[in-house]
Amino acid sequence: MEDCIFCKIVDGEIPCFTIYEDERVLAFADINPINTGHTLIIPKSHAENIWEIGEDDLTAVHRASRRLAGAMQRALQPDGIAMLQLNGRAVNQLVMHYHLHLIPRKADDPALSMTEWELVPGDMKVIEETARNIADAC
Ligand code: 5GP
Ligand code: ZN
Repeated sequence: MEDCIFCKIVDGEIPCFTIYEDERVLAFADINPINTGHTLIIPKSHAENIWEIGEDDLTAVHRASRRLAGAMQRALQPDGIAMLQLNGRAVNQLVMHYHLHLIPRKADDPALSMTEWELVPGDMKVIEETARNIADAC
């Protein structure tokens, strides 16, 4: 898609450090890494978000995530790997081409606000009603 940075990376118009690719996906280094090894996996075919991406591309991205996680384990020995995927500007999706972040972490790394939140018990009635509401829409 025109004017999409990640499509331009797929087409080779913008350079990247490729880490893995197959016929459906490309994994490359994030140029603003939260941690050393921060990697993005994208479908080669443009889709904006979880609502748009095709099932086969979605599967391919997440199959690749396991391969990449194994490679990171061998190459970097992280204590954990955060996987993050944002959908929509309201949750700070900046590049509107589906991408999965793989962020290797050491145990003593500073907190990532998306992975470390305080556990505060919710209102069980609201939890139940909301769960039912979503379940009915499945
Ligand atoms: P999000 O849309 O999930 O908020 O994050 C977009 C990610 O894409 C950011 O982590 C940002 O650093 C990364 N990014 C944006 N432009 C480029 C680019 O041109 N090359 C690479 N390798 N990463 C990019
Ligand atoms: Zn795109």
